[in-house]
Parts: sequence; C-alpha cells; structure tokens
Amino acid sequence: MRLCPAAAGTGIVFVRTDLPGRPVVSVRDFEGAAAPFRTAIKKGAAEVHTVEHILSALVGLAITDCRIEIDEAEVPGMDGSALDFVHAVRQAGIRECAGTRAEPLVVGEPVHVEDGMASIEALPYDGGLKITYTLDYAGHPLAQGSYEIELDAESYAREIAPARTFVLKKDAETMRAAGLGKGADYQNTVVIDGDRALETSLRFANEPVRHKILDLLGDLCLLGCTLQAHVVARCSGHRANRALVLRLRECAGQPATCDIAAREAGATARTASHDH
Ligand SMILES: [Zn+2]
Repeated sequence: MRLCPAAAGTGIVFVRTDLPGRPVVSVRDFEGAAAPFRTAIKKGAAEVHTVEHILSALVGLAITDCRIEIDEAEVPGMDGSALDFVHAVRQAGIRECAGTRAEPLVVGEPVHVEDGMASIEALPYDGGLKITYTLDYAGHPLAQGSYEIELDAESYAREIAPARTFVLKKDAETMRAAGLGKGADYQNTVVIDGDRALETSLRFANEPVRHKILDLLGDLCLLGCTLQAHVVARCSGHRANRALVLRLRECAGQPATCDIAAREAGATARTASHDH
C-alpha cells in the first residue's frame, strides 16, 4: 500500500492497482460493502477491506486529500494499531493546501443511532471533534470504562494511534473456527480474558476503549468530510458507526430532520458490541 499526495478536493480515495483499469473507490462508497468485524468500501467489483485503521490515521492527522494505492483487497494489518501509518505519514510530511479544505459537517441538532446494546450520538459542539466512548463488555473488566478525547494531531498520535485491536477470548475462538483472523497473533491483537490480556503487555491500561475510538474515527472518515461535533458512543462497533454516518449524511442534506427523534432501532439479533 502506498499513500500518495492528491489534488485538493480529491478527498480520500483508494486505487486498486492490481485490477484492470485501476478502479478508484472513495471512502463514501461504503453502502453495500458491509462486512463483519471490519469496515469495507466497494465500487462495482472493486472492494477494499479493513480500511478503518489507515482512515483513522488520516482523520487523526487532519488529512483531507490522499490517494491510497493498494495492490490487494485488504489493508495491511501492521501491529493492529494505527501507529505505523501515523509514522509513515509524518515522515513523508503533510502539506497544507490553502483555501481548498472541504467544509466540515457541523452538527446542529443531536443525531442518535441505536443498534442493540450499542448507541452513538453526535451532539452540537463549539470546538472541533470530541469523542467520549464507553465500553462495557460484561464479565471483562479490561473491556469496560470510558475515555474522552479532544481530537488534534498530537492527542491522536499520542493517546489513540498506538491502541491495538482487541478481541474477547471466546470470540477469538469462534472467529478462528470460522477461518477468520488468520493474520492475528497475541502481539497485533490483544486477547482479553476477564481483567487480563493474554501473552502481551498493554500499551495503556485502557487500551481496548482507546482502540474503539481509533476505529470510530476511521469510520467517521466515511462521511467524506470532517465533522464538528461531540460524538458520544456506548459499545458501538462498525455497524452502528456506519449507521451514524448515514444519518449524518441524511441530516446534512435535510437539516429539518436532524433531531433527537431521528432514531434507528437495531432489530438484528447480533449486538454491535462485538461487531469490532
Ligand atoms: Zn480496529
């Protein structure tokens, strides 16, 4: 995968260099590409999977235009966090393009989405982007608790980017049986068993909740523009995050419908809390 400069106004796009015609897939092309445990985008036959960590790094560093060339369908997992992406981008350098930044989506009224146990809402906020996330996996104290961050490049790089992917031990066993997570090991995936992590030392005492914020920021990139809001999430996973992005897009088109009554109830059996 190669991150390349892009002309102002391009947004963040992937180019599948291995496919005929080198098709371009935008971060906005995510409807119909839903996949469990990850975020995917899709245009025609061209798909890119597990985009959330690289997109999180770009959102975290406030990068609005980037062409990402990739020669397969899956973004490299690296160490399970966004740290390598942040280092690579910072090493390459970031250029400010005066007067070309897309308008942020400013949340004027609360927008609320629910999906089983998960909920997520975007509230009006005078600053930039603030995230408050509460994780509450019953029986797993390591995957419980809240964390809040006012997003800027420094706070992102220091507090969020290093947080690795995690999975509950019982879910790891289910996934392995289903043939998923083949590239996972105890170093790039924190395996949680109650109040401890198996065979790794944590980078933060609350590394799991920080990773949920990392994922959420990556999913918010699907908006296709920056967001000015206070996002309050509880146990949300990729599915609930995507639902919020869709609601925000609708609201941006029709401000009148953008209120707290605009709820989506999750009727599906599987809760989003484990839709990591
Ligand atoms: Zn993740």
